[in-house]
Amino acid sequence: MNLRNIAIIAHVDHGKTTLIDRLLSQSGTFRDNQKVAERVMDSNDLEKERGITILAKVTSLQWQDTRINIVDTPGHADFGGEVERILNMVDGVVVLVDAAEGPMPQTKFVVGKALKLGLRPIVAINKVDRPDAREVEVINEVFDLFAALDATDEQLDFPILYGSGRDGWMAKSPQGPKDEGLAPLFDLVLSHVPEARTEEGGFRMLGTILEANPYLGRIVTGRITSGSIKPNQAVKVLGADGKTIEQGRITKILAFRGIERTPLDEAEAGDIVAIAGLTKGTVADTFCDPTVETPIQAQPI
Ligand code: GDP
Repeated sequence: MNLRNIAIIAHVDHGKTTLIDRLLSQSGTFRDNQKVAERVMDSNDLEKERGITILAKVTSLQWQDTRINIVDTPGHADFGGEVERILNMVDGVVVLVDAAEGPMPQTKFVVGKALKLGLRPIVAINKVDRPDAREVEVINEVFDLFAALDATDEQLDFPILYGSGRDGWMAKSPQGPKDEGLAPLFDLVLSHVPEARTEEGGFRMLGTILEANPYLGRIVTGRITSGSIKPNQAVKVLGADGKTIEQGRITKILAFRGIERTPLDEAEAGDIVAIAGLTKGTVADTFCDPTVETPIQAQPI
């Protein structure tokens, strides 16, 4: 199966949750779309209440013979390198911008980090159904923003789609066609974003998102840089300084499927998974095969 890892960067209210929900239903990832829609919405409302996106999440869907992991990014500046680590899991970004509001200053930080990492953006102008949509100006504003953030010529030559997440379509023109739904966005992700990158060697994964689960204990999510992993496999955890923090065994590997997680018998390099079984390893630590000696450094920015 082919694999793409992408992030969607958007200002709050520009329609990210609605778009992801439509992507899920149009990819046929769920039978019970209504239920999913409600649950995606629920978690987002909670974030809005708190005012910020606290935990980046991963949604996974299948389009034709490709699985696409969609990583949510905090829509704001952060402390301690969280944004860099999250963006290090992906090979492409979709910058989603409201056709009336245009790019907002708050997204500058995350967009700037994505550009510095060398990610080639896809720009999706959303909510073109709004009567006050001004997509031509908004494209210019996006271009100016990228240029001000030192985008390369290649990054400035970004492909653009227009559409309405709510109405479930994206197209090369703000007028449509609408009857192809979100297929143009899926196709652009497949053609513009490189295949999930991998390296040679034994199992290595940079801890990127940490959570506590009442049944599984500590769960760490990350992108597998190299090798593969199975439940019960021995792993060690290295700090950024190369010192061993702990040794243990993986009790469970969880893959993202839709907005759910399902246990896997094996996970391979390139994929984004969550692992349980270790008690001390945390974000920015390297989870790896016991023979590995060098930790992964989050790409310096
Ligand atoms: P998020 O904060 O980026 O996740 O945004 P949401 O997906 O929650 O959407 C924010 C608001 O914009 C909601 O009221 C949506 O109904 C509305 N919305 C989402 N997509 C569209 C669209 O394509 N057109 C219009 N007019 N409104 C939209």
